[in-house]
Amino acid sequence: MRPCVWLLLAAVLAAGCAGTDGDTARSDGGSSANAVVPAASASTTAARPAASSAPQRTADRTTPRTTPRAEPRRACRSGPRRTADGTRRFWTKDRRCYTSRWYAGAHRRMIPFGCTRAPWYPPSSRCARGRGFHHGLDLAMRKGTKVYAGVRGRIVTRGLGSAYGSRAVIIRSRGRDVLLGHLRSRRVSHGDRVRRGDLVGRSGARGAPDGPHLHVEVRPARGSYLSAVSPRRVLRLRVAG
Ligand SMILES: [Zn+2]
Repeated sequence: MRPCVWLLLAAVLAAGCAGTDGDTARSDGGSSANAVVPAASASTTAARPAASSAPQRTADRTTPRTTPRAEPRRACRSGPRRTADGTRRFWTKDRRCYTSRWYAGAHRRMIPFGCTRAPWYPPSSRCARGRGFHHGLDLAMRKGTKVYAGVRGRIVTRGLGSAYGSRAVIIRSRGRDVLLGHLRSRRVSHGDRVRRGDLVGRSGARGAPDGPHLHVEVRPARGSYLSAVSPRRVLRLRVAG
């Protein structure tokens, strides 16, 4: 036991000295007493960058290649550019792909909120040159893409009209309605309570003349489509990659 105690004591003393010398070595570093210390501190400083830079480099190398880029690119196949009769599907020049808490993967905007040249909407007094008004934001995505509740709230499925498809859903939350249109299937029922991240259904093309996409519309609670506001704040789109 005793030699062990001495060894331990010696080690503690040595460590204490090294610490003190290390500080003096930084200020004057030339005496024989400090001769060991600069070496120790040099090895420490030599080891530090190596230790700190090596994992960083690995993280930098791997992170962009695997996670954000490869995944969204795979998921960002937005389907055909035109409908069966040759009509354009995309009515924005924005070709970027966006992620959102409301759906899986990353997807292109197809028709933005507001006045549009897309032929699916009757001319609106709000728009110039006879353009129609799109009351939501469309994101092109393949049928079957998972659609989540981006906010917590209560599900409304009744009285939504046929334009959004027979499986459309509203999530009523904090005085506003978030409508998710053209779903192929839904996993929730009228009156259900959902939390953020819950699976609501899967995207589709029900009621959509221009192919599979998710229509997201935001209105004041119980308001009509005419009171819709831009859903961008609710969607929180983020450019993928
Ligand atoms: Zn739409």
